Amino acid sequence: MTLIEPTADRDRTALAPDLHALPDRAARAWTERMAVSPREGSTYAVTTESGHTYLVDVKRRSCSCPDNRIRGERCKHLRRVAIEITARRVAPPGKQRATCDACGTVTFVAEDAPTPHLCERCRLTPGDVARDRETGDRLVVVRVTDERASERVVEATGETVAAYDTNDGYPADDFVVEAAYLSDAVRADDPRRYAFPRSRLERTDERLVDTVDG
Ligand SMILES: [Zn+2]
Ligand SMILES: [Zn+2]
Repeated sequence: MTLIEPTADRDRTALAPDLHALPDRAARAWTERMAVSPREGSTYAVTTESGHTYLVDVKRRSCSCPDNRIRGERCKHLRRVAIEITARRVAPPGKQRATCDACGTVTFVAEDAPTPHLCERCRLTPGDVARDRETGDRLVVVRVTDERASERVVEATGETVAAYDTNDGYPADDFVVEAAYLSDAVRADDPRRYAFPRSRLERTDERLVDTVDG
């Protein structure tokens, strides 16, 4: 017999709100059929069940509907935009919806973010410490490029990064990440860099702390 520990009360949570316990405007924000689409800046167009379209500005907390404009209420359109942003169905202000170029999940990136677009989990930034999945070595990320492993030629061998023996099995269209061995990086100002396919490097929670003064 397998004993399953009962879950503590505080660990149990409802996913949807209790609509009966919500004020009317909040309940309608959850249940009515509305379409939300991002517009300029912090504004969103909300089209309602009855076919009206109102403009919501989340930063100014304003809506063009009579409920907000005349009665000054936090209307169901404002609430709905907030719900959709929280649920990650629409992008927060200043961000755009994008597909992670490494793993394909939906993510939100800055509107002027350069490619590749990477989700939180796949993102590597210079200074991040990563683990080489093949050797277990720890490396420091120096640069994330937008070149593909099948395009980037390694000078020493004349082969592409994708064709390299130990990179067998990693996608040929992976982005190339330049990284230095941690042991070199802590000793040298300009450590030798090596090119890796992105998915060969596993992110860790560590970052190289810059100890150079000034
Ligand atoms: Zn409104
Ligand atoms: Zn990803």
